[in-house]
Amino acid sequence: MPDTTQPQPTLTNRVAVVTGGASGIGRATAILLAEHGARVFVGDFDPVDSTATESTRLGITELKCDVRVEADVEKLINTAVSEGGQLDILVNNAGIGMVKQITDVTEADWDACIDTNLKGAFLACKHAIPHMKQRGGGAIVNMASNAGLLPRAHDPVYSISKGALVALTKSLGLCHGPDRIRVNAVCPGPVGDTRMMNADLDRADDRETTVKQFIQASPLARAAERMISPREVAEAILYLVSDASLMVTGTCIAIDGGKSLGVPPT
Ligand code: NAD
Repeated sequence: MPDTTQPQPTLTNRVAVVTGGASGIGRATAILLAEHGARVFVGDFDPVDSTATESTRLGITELKCDVRVEADVEKLINTAVSEGGQLDILVNNAGIGMVKQITDVTEADWDACIDTNLKGAFLACKHAIPHMKQRGGGAIVNMASNAGLLPRAHDPVYSISKGALVALTKSLGLCHGPDRIRVNAVCPGPVGDTRMMNADLDRADDRETTVKQFIQASPLARAAERMISPREVAEAILYLVSDASLMVTGTCIAIDGGKSLGVPPT
């Protein structure tokens, strides 16, 4: 009897690159894709120890990569192709926050945020697409944000970076449909248990109240009395990189419990 409690391997023989996969949503994504049979290569600024039990168990290759640096990104993609034999999936997840008003943003702040959140995705697409073309197709998922759908007053540069990532997603989805390369984005609302979220909460005057405010802002999070989990975002990415979504490109799926729909009921 097959063990129906185990996830079915829908990504067998697929090779995936996940940037920023050392923690948070990227980690959950790398693990979920590997659990579904993909050979996963993680590129992160601050990689996990490659001998970590989970990486060994799931065959995840952990590599150091700064997505702002073209040579690093090219090396990450080429390593996946040479060791995995091909490239089928790219998840552009690496990102940083930037909670500052525009008048306080330095040129270095701007570059750090735009280069990590936007240029990193451009560089990875640039180097991944030729390999995907050669293979006859592929799936790219960009990690945008609720902030890419509805800009926010407290982090304008972050919102700009994610809005541009949504535009990149639609543009490349259009350009590479004929190559059978699908390009989609996910736009999460507040996701708990990630380094970025914990840093935001550490900065808050009252952590507990801030968590409550995040939960209140999303109708489904409020109903569930919890924040969105990294695994819930990873599940949407799994759909977008699997054959279940072969006719889906250029979309931006909001995984925000309805936060971006409008003013929630009181
Ligand atoms: P996280 O800090 O746990 O993960 C981000 C990862 O990216 C880290 O492992 C970090 O080392 C890596 N990284 C940062 N700069 C890098 C660089 N230059 N090169 C390579 N790797 C780099 O945070 P997270 O919340 O899991 O964020 C992941 C993505 O999700 C980001 O793009 C973020 O903007 C997006 N996002 C997060 C939330 C949220 O509420 N947590 C909501 C919407 C979107």
